[in-house]
Parts: sequence; C-alpha cells; structure tokens
Amino acid sequence: MKFLRERFKEMMPYHSDFITEGIKLDANENPYPVPAEMIAHMQNWVKAMSVSRYPDTDSMGLIRAIAKAYNVASQNVVCGVGSDELIDCILRATIEEADCVLAPTPSFSMYPQFTLLNAGQLIQIPLQEDFSYDVAGMIQAIKTHQPKVIFLCNPNNPTGSLLTLEEITEITQLAKGVVVVDEAYGEFCEISALPLIRKYNNIIVLKTFSKAYALAGARVGYGIACAEIIELINTVKVPYNLNIFSQEIATWAIAHKEVFEPIIEKIKVQREVLYTKLKQFGLTVYPSATNFIWLEMPEKAYLALQEAKIYIRKMQYNGKIYYRITVGNEEENMALLKVLGKYLR
Ligand code: PMP
Repeated sequence: MKFLRERFKEMMPYHSDFITEGIKLDANENPYPVPAEMIAHMQNWVKAMSVSRYPDTDSMGLIRAIAKAYNVASQNVVCGVGSDELIDCILRATIEEADCVLAPTPSFSMYPQFTLLNAGQLIQIPLQEDFSYDVAGMIQAIKTHQPKVIFLCNPNNPTGSLLTLEEITEITQLAKGVVVVDEAYGEFCEISALPLIRKYNNIIVLKTFSKAYALAGARVGYGIACAEIIELINTVKVPYNLNIFSQEIATWAIAHKEVFEPIIEKIKVQREVLYTKLKQFGLTVYPSATNFIWLEMPEKAYLALQEAKIYIRKMQYNGKIYYRITVGNEEENMALLKVLGKYLR
C-alpha cells in the first residue's frame, strides 16, 4: 500500500458478498422474475448486435426513451454506470479540495466514499431519533457551511425515511450549491422532486434501473436536471460508459414502463405485509417508503436467518446494531417470517 495516496490510507476496498444461493434480501434488489417480453427482446437483439463497434458514447437512444417517459428534453438527461457513477461525476465536476459536501447519516455509503475520493469535506447531519430527516438541522448546516453539494436520499437508504416536496423545495431554494435528490427507490413512494427541475437550476434527480426495473446486473442509472447541470456531468464522465447490452435493455425497460407497474405494486403490498408482521413480533420497526425495512431485533434472530441461508443486511449506527431487510416476494417473506417466528414469539 506504499503507493497509495495519503488521503486514501484509511479506505478499504469495496466488498460485497456475491450470494448465489439461499434467499437474498440484503441488497434491495427486485425479487420478481424479469418480464419474459424483455428477455425475448434481448434474445432477438443479440443476433444482430454490433459488439465489434464502440457503443454510442452519449447513450442517445436510451436518453431519448428516458426523456419521453418523463416528458423532458434529451438535454435534461444523462446516463451513468449505475447512479453510483453519476454521484461520482457530480462531485468530480463541482468540488475543489476541501470544499464542503452535506449528507444525512445514516445514509447511502457512496456519499462519503465519493466525497473522500474527490477530496471534499463531508458534513453529516444525523437523522432524528426516530430516523426521520432533521430538516431544521440540514437548513442550519446549509447556512453555516454553504456546501457545494447537498445529498438528499429520498426515500433514504437504509432507513426508509422520506422528505416532503415542500422540504426539498425549501432546501433547494436556500442552497447555493447543487442539490442531489437521490431517488433510487422513488418508484416505491408517491413523492418525486422531478417537478422542481423546471423551476430550479441547482437540483438534479438521480434514478436507477437497479431496483424497480429489476436491472441491477445491467448497471444503469440516470440523472434529470436543467441542461447546465447535465453538461457538467457530460464534461467529466468517462467516454463510452454504458456498454451496448446495458443501453439496449434499459431502453426496452423505460419504453415499457407499464410492464413494471404491477411488479412495483406487488412489492409495495409485500412491504406492508412484512412491516405488519414484523411489528406483531414486538420488534422496533421503522416506517418505510421503499422496498426495504429498517429495524432492530435480537442478534440471535439474525443468526437464525443466516443459518437458514436467508441473507439480510446488518449495520452499525451510533454504536448500535440495526438490520435492513429487503422486501422479497411472497415465498421469501414467508420463509423469513417463519424463521423469525420461532425466535420472537
Ligand atoms: N443511491 C442509493 C440510495 C442506493 O441505495 C443505490 C444502490 N444501493 C444507488 C444509489 C446506486 O444504485 P446503482 O448504482 O445500482 O444505480
């Protein structure tokens, strides 16, 4: 590690278990099979794909399909290798060394990670004791620190907390820097900051195909904002970032949005079932506007799930252990509840 930059010395390589057996409820993925029409389309497409040529560096076909779906212009859209890439690009394009970046905590781990990689200074605003957003605290911190970038994760990963449109508006009006509203799980709730992109030139909404659209393996995310913000990202992004497969499958998905709507509805129904049952076990369970649930439970219950090859996410915050369970399909949730029932009744 002697060659590693000084400021990266505390960092660890990102690792995530690659689980291929059992029941996987640890990464907020979509538990339902991908639509058969999508597979059929890709099987057909493969026969004539131009894999010997570079892809369209601007992913224009995909951008046009996204623009149409959201009724915005193509200049208002940018695509990335997951929304992860866009988070990095936003910071890369905007912050100088030691510039301040604001984010809630606990929240998505890539905000601190990419802030560090881009030499920014992260100010974290803790959520309140019930894990709802501390809007007053964020507003105070914006006034004090004048951050160049503000991350709002809505709904928040890992807690499921939700900001209202009024709260996002208030923050955007006050902010002098770029407000990033990360709506990776936006399809599972009723609130979106998208209407604000027409009114404010300092806000970008990030979305992804990894969750509601069941395409985590294709790695495609997108941002919607005014043309100047999109241009910032295009200035720093890697050429040819999206490969031809990812561009094609995501274009199909967004052009056939309606196919995913019943799947999203099923996940929302399952979320309520899971939430109610977990509460009946007497656990501290937090309200969720997403496809996962944040809760406290005894470690022995977690160990029993592991033993049964049911994988959920264990997390530490403020010296305490919490768990994040992705909402699975009916059978997966039943299996999870059955194991927990043995330990918690
Ligand atoms: N934002 C949030 C809040 C997330 O939870 C995730 C994925 N875990 C992402 C962004 C990144 O998603 P992707 O890179 O797969 O688009």
